[in-house]
Amino acid sequence: MRLSRYFLPILRDAPREAEIVSHRLMLRAGMVRQEGAGIYAFLPLGHRVLQKVNAIVREEQNRAGAIEMLMPTIQSADLWRESGRYDDYGDEMLRIKDRNKRDLLYGPTNEEMITEIFRAYVHSYKDVPLNLYHLQWKFRDERRPRFGTMRSREFLMKDAYSFDLDQAGARHSYNKMFVAYLRTFARMGLKAIPMVADTGPIGGDLSHEFIILASTGESEVYSHADYLDMAVPDANVDFDDVQGLQKIVNKWTSLYAATSEKHDAAAFDALPESSRVSARGIEVGHIFYFGTKYSEPMKAVVAGPDGAQTPVHMGSYGIGPSRLVAAIIEASHDDNGIIWPEEVAPFRVAILNLKQGAAETDAASEHLYQALLGMGVDVLYHDKDERPGSKFSTADLIGVPWQILVGPKGLADGKVEVKKRADGSRELMTPAEALARLTP
Ligand code: ATP
Ligand code: MG
Repeated sequence: MRLSRYFLPILRDAPREAEIVSHRLMLRAGMVRQEGAGIYAFLPLGHRVLQKVNAIVREEQNRAGAIEMLMPTIQSADLWRESGRYDDYGDEMLRIKDRNKRDLLYGPTNEEMITEIFRAYVHSYKDVPLNLYHLQWKFRDERRPRFGTMRSREFLMKDAYSFDLDQAGARHSYNKMFVAYLRTFARMGLKAIPMVADTGPIGGDLSHEFIILASTGESEVYSHADYLDMAVPDANVDFDDVQGLQKIVNKWTSLYAATSEKHDAAAFDALPESSRVSARGIEVGHIFYFGTKYSEPMKAVVAGPDGAQTPVHMGSYGIGPSRLVAAIIEASHDDNGIIWPEEVAPFRVAILNLKQGAAETDAASEHLYQALLGMGVDVLYHDKDERPGSKFSTADLIGVPWQILVGPKGLADGKVEVKKRADGSRELMTPAEALARLTP
């Protein structure tokens, strides 16, 4: 992408309304624009990051055997009356009437709708287990929308729903998502800790919130320090290996980790001082087994091998990609701006032509730009007529992992400079060496 033809509305000054660093940086880097309280447009740069986050989420959901679909944002109130949640959901639900005065709502979540779809088609134990997911915008009329896309009213969610014949099957489905989540967040450069979460009236131990530590987090969390160094399962983990998966989950739930709601001060205080982490955290994902809570009232039943009709056991599994974009920034930035982990960076490489309009720098920049495009690298060519200082600060602000500085002085020796955003290190090399270095 040539910056001269792109849409990147950079703000030089920190907007006053933004309270936390990720919100400030997202506004300054031209990633999002507020269109209402807790309602954001994703501008091209923000949209690129969101798509990269979504791609990782999809790959890991698919790897774990979940199947993608797409449900609508608008739902009928009648569906929610069946589960009893239409009245219970309260003010967070955005309620709408159509021209025929029918009650509709903008979906805050999709348990009812997916249960309706399941029961319409699946009637036999032979057709489960099944895990269906989608990435769709949700609306929750949050009392305190704040922190930009971290807690917005309209936000993107990946929500998956599993269906099993019995609780043992549901446990395996839960474990698949648990492991998929470990991989998903690690690939985004995040250390997400699975913490015991409240299961409400259903009870049991099958609910975990995946939390990353950040001083601006809204939750108070307590965790064993060793979680921060645990290696996540690699890509060839066998999701059909029931015992193997259970072992991974056991390992990741063996140490203390809980949010304030489930905090057990005595157990935490029993840990050696150096192992105790008490901090603030951001919830980036939540997985939940809820048994037959919806399948029973909504009559989502399957015939077992013996012909007996039983309500299916369900779980739901959420991830917030639009929150994640902000959370990744909270975890990875410095005074100059964002530092994107490679896998979610909007562009992998930025070419900074330090003397726009000069024959040598233009030709060298153009050559690098075409070569990188040819290699399939996401590259942003800063080809505007701006001073070097301004190009440096833009590139640092938007956090592209690699910058190639093309200046007349270096070129006189046949060299360009490759700068790594994460640590600021710079290295002189020939354009050919730069291309070799930046081959994905
Ligand atoms: P929170 O406690 O932060 O309100 P929640 O428990 O209501 O979250 P879930 O219903 O489990 O969230 O939703 C699944 C995921 O959707 C969350 O883990 C989070 O990543 C994301 N999410 C939930 N609410 C919001 C919001 N208001 N803005 C952005 N993302 C959200
Ligand atoms: Mg909530």
